[in-house]
Amino acid sequence: MDDCLFCQIIAKAIPSTPVYEDAGFYAFLDIHPVNPGHTLVVPKEHSRHLSDATEETARELMSVTQKIARAICLALGSDDFNLEMNCGPTAGQVIPHLHMHVVPRLADDKLKHWPGKSYAEGAAEVVAEKIRASMK
Ligand code: ZN
Repeated sequence: MDDCLFCQIIAKAIPSTPVYEDAGFYAFLDIHPVNPGHTLVVPKEHSRHLSDATEETARELMSVTQKIARAICLALGSDDFNLEMNCGPTAGQVIPHLHMHVVPRLADDKLKHWPGKSYAEGAAEVVAEKIRASMK
C-alpha cells in the first residue's frame, strides 16, 4: 500500500537499519528501541494485523521471528527476550501493517509485564465458552 509506512520501508523508499531480508520478510531495528537490538519482523505482504494475515504468513512469521531472536540473543550475549505483537489501535498498534517486535531483555532494564486481573466465580468458563463457540 502506497500510504503504509512499513510497505515504504520494505520498498526501500524510506531508510531503515536492516537485520534480515528474504523473499517474504524484512526485519529492521525499531527506531525507538526498548533495548538495543529491538527488531521488527515484517511480512512483505501487507495485512493490517494477525487477524487479516494468511495462515501461511502467520506460520512463516513465527519461523522467521525464531531465527531472528536466536541471532539477537547470540549477538547481544543474552538468552532472554520478549515477543510482542500489537493488533489494532486499542492494543497499541501504531503502524497498521502486521509486525512482530523482538525485544532483547537485559537483567537491569526494569521492564514490567502487564498487570493480571482475576475472574469472578464462573466468569472464566463463560468467556472460554464464547471463544470456543467462535472458532472457525
Ligand atoms: Zn503495509
